[in-house]
Amino acid sequence: MRDAILNLLYPKGVRCMQCGEVRRMDMENCLCSVCMEELESERIPASSCERCLSYVEKGTACAFCRDGGLDGIRRAYAPYQYVNAARNLVLCIKFESVEDCVPLLADAMADSLKHRDFDVLVPVPLHFFRMRERGFNQAMLLAQALSKRVNIPVADALKRVRATRAQSTLSKRADRERNVKDAFRMRADASVLGKRVLLVDDVRTSGNTARACAEELLKNGAAEVSLCTVCVVWKYQGKKFDKQPENRKKDRYM
Ligand SMILES: [Zn+2]
Ligand SMILES: [Zn+2]
Repeated sequence: MRDAILNLLYPKGVRCMQCGEVRRMDMENCLCSVCMEELESERIPASSCERCLSYVEKGTACAFCRDGGLDGIRRAYAPYQYVNAARNLVLCIKFESVEDCVPLLADAMADSLKHRDFDVLVPVPLHFFRMRERGFNQAMLLAQALSKRVNIPVADALKRVRATRAQSTLSKRADRERNVKDAFRMRADASVLGKRVLLVDDVRTSGNTARACAEELLKNGAAEVSLCTVCVVWKYQGKKFDKQPENRKKDRYM
């Protein structure tokens, strides 16, 4: 009841996306100043792996890179760790409030790009079932907003040709490989031949999806593939990766 009344008095955009409080907000931000501060504290520390942005214990090699987490991908860019406020914003753009969050996140993504020598931004595609359900692809919205900020065009070059099962439901390695093999395909009218591609997605967890996309892009002649996401799961748990992609438990979010 209290929320219903507050919603009438202070429609979305006046209230903080993260905590819901009616607060004075910075001009264009969707967060109140308290939550903005929290978000800032979730930035990826400079001490992280230069290539993949994962946490690296001092004096050791990066475990994520060592285990092939970024195979086929030149390097990764992202502003935030996948925790608390940053994670909430990523979930917000999957399920609601897209217009409110995307500008803030695209600004942060643009800032995280230490290099801009890319020819094209390619969003990670949604399966069409998911697309029909949700009505939009959050990776595409992020790519379009990022494109305006960095002046690199978007190419909707990939499609997800089939929904994959959660890898965790499959016990045999061969089944897992079959499950994820060829989940992504180039669109017939797209070309990345000779192009330096920046893949765009909302979050990198295991990196499976990004590696599968990179594989397809490279197979079709891309010169190289890098990855830009809003968040990365910063602390890698040290699991060996299958060479084939998609063992995400969170397939429902794809
Ligand atoms: Zn707040
Ligand atoms: Zn690394």
